[in-house]
Amino acid sequence: MGYKNKNDMNTYLKEKYYRLKKAVFNLLGNKCAQCGETEGLQIDHKDKTLKKYNVLRQLRCKPWAIILKEVEKCQLLCKKCHLEKTKKEFDRYGEKNSSAKLKNEDVEEIRNFIKQGLSYREIGKMYGVSNVSISNIKNNKTWKIGRAV
Ligand SMILES: [Zn+2]
Repeated sequence: MGYKNKNDMNTYLKEKYYRLKKAVFNLLGNKCAQCGETEGLQIDHKDKTLKKYNVLRQLRCKPWAIILKEVEKCQLLCKKCHLEKTKKEFDRYGEKNSSAKLKNEDVEEIRNFIKQGLSYREIGKMYGVSNVSISNIKNNKTWKIGRAV
């Protein structure tokens, strides 16, 4: 694979990412498993305890066959249903979580929730951390996700 310059390489990687992402979404039916919505879909692990990694984040790193194994555990949910499910999960596991440190993947989710317009307080409650922690995440003070996309 020869690339004239770094930009060509970046474009290639981006295209590859979107192609693979589309393939994953196709496999999962391209609609929300709960309500049938087709816009703003997110990948959700049906059972969080079986989650090994974030599929989209690993798309370009892991072989497709490995990705497929993880995709089998997933479903698509629209923002609304994903939020509801996540809230329920935190209601269930909340106690245990209250003193737990946030993982990188939590931080990603939190950023998503912020984008979706949830208040820091509301998000903090779900993750058992203060609204200040959430606002720090927003401002990138405490958390930096490595591996720039
Ligand atoms: Zn839905």
